[in-house]
Amino acid sequence: MINLEPPKKAGALINQAYQAASQVLRPISRKYDRAEHAYPKELDMFAAVLDGLNSSGQGGAGAAGVRRESSAKDSSGNRNGGNLRTVLGTIEMCWGDVALLLSMPRQGLGNAAIASVANDEQLARFGKLWAAMAITEPDCGSDSAAITTTAVEDGDSYVLNGEKIFVTSGQRADAVVVWATLDRSAGRAAIKSFVVEKGTPGFEVVRLEHKLGIRASDTAVLRFENCRVPKENLLGSAEVDTKKGFAGVMQTFDNTRPLVAAMAIGVARAALEETARILADAGVVVDYDKAANIQHAAAAAYLELEADYEAAYLLTLESAWMADNRKPNSLQASMAKAKAGRSVVDITLRCVELAGAYSEESLLEKWARDAKILDIFEGTQQIQQLIVARRVLGKTSAELK
Ligand SMILES: Cc1cc2nc3c(=O)[nH]c(=O)nc-3n(C[C@H](O)[C@H](O)[C@H](O)COP(=O)(O)OP(=O)(O)OC[C@H]3O[C@@H](n4cnc5c(N)ncnc54)[C@H](O)[C@@H]3O)c2cc1C
Repeated sequence: MINLEPPKKAGALINQAYQAASQVLRPISRKYDRAEHAYPKELDMFAAVLDGLNSSGQGGAGAAGVRRESSAKDSSGNRNGGNLRTVLGTIEMCWGDVALLLSMPRQGLGNAAIASVANDEQLARFGKLWAAMAITEPDCGSDSAAITTTAVEDGDSYVLNGEKIFVTSGQRADAVVVWATLDRSAGRAAIKSFVVEKGTPGFEVVRLEHKLGIRASDTAVLRFENCRVPKENLLGSAEVDTKKGFAGVMQTFDNTRPLVAAMAIGVARAALEETARILADAGVVVDYDKAANIQHAAAAAYLELEADYEAAYLLTLESAWMADNRKPNSLQASMAKAKAGRSVVDITLRCVELAGAYSEESLLEKWARDAKILDIFEGTQQIQQLIVARRVLGKTSAELK
């Protein structure tokens, strides 16, 4: 039987994350939206608490808790592991503030990459670092197979050359997981990820972006010029296996897309709750026992938004649960990301409209701006739909572009 409630064991984590989100993140949400590029120092103490949660094996609320093998040791029966707990924690934290969660030390998307593909030796070296993720380039976004940053083997090192744009936490993180090609003529199979630590000669932060939303989170342009990293910094296998293609690096997305979907759900829930409060103050009653078409137009609209929210929430839990239970979840991860990304944009904009909340007096205005990126990074809406279509129709990426 399908049980659609979050597991009871996750109750304490959810409650802790909720308390932290309401007492630490919400109160400083507007402050750091206005103070773009200022580091939210309140997060240092908070990050230590998250480290504790992650190391205790309870899962956390950032990307650090998503190691596949560790969550899959016991393959018998139903398992609610690190992926599900991290998704549940992330929802609560992003109810507080998504940009501040993205600014949380040691919870970067690069940490998710390290957690999912690093070997034990690399995990020991890099597991405690705060790691950003650098895939996108000036001429390559959705089509990540078109990466031009190169990694050339030279003695005990790889030498990296290229430029990366839109790197979340690119300035603040201790290290960056950089996607680069070992051999452009070998296509996708030659794309590997490399951990480059801050301070490595040849690694430069060029500038920070000024953005529409998630302004508390730094977004950087990075340059690598003859940047030499030890061979042991390549994550996964160095072998260029054209049969396996992109499998190694793409595996990361199966773990990170449910996390981005969870971020969207947290923001959407914040907007729905605030709108419900404003509607109630205005005397609009949302009645769950009556058909939408005989209710106040605002109540009917609200019910529609809640239905979208609920569908996105359940898809996200399913994709994380599948990862915990060693079930291939690429399809579900993309479905969750597509549904949650689109829903959060629709929900937050409609909430601004329903509540008449267009000024900075209300966080609804901010959430509507923060929402858009959640439908863009870790694969846009269109790319998620493309992946879903390929999986459902059984087509390869060459057959359906
Ligand atoms: C605030 C912010 C933070 C980010 N953080 C990171 C990060 O930490 N690391 C990182 O590597 N990147 C990051 N990104 C980059 C992000 O992942 C890319 O912007 C995204 O992948 C889209 O790439 P693009 O902008 O080059 O758009 P393009 O790929 O040029 O796409 C433009 C439009 O065309 C559509 N499109 C493209 N191909 C197809 C197709 N085959 N079929 C249908 N439609 C298609 C897209 O969906 C999109 O709507 C970030 C971006 C932003 C804005």
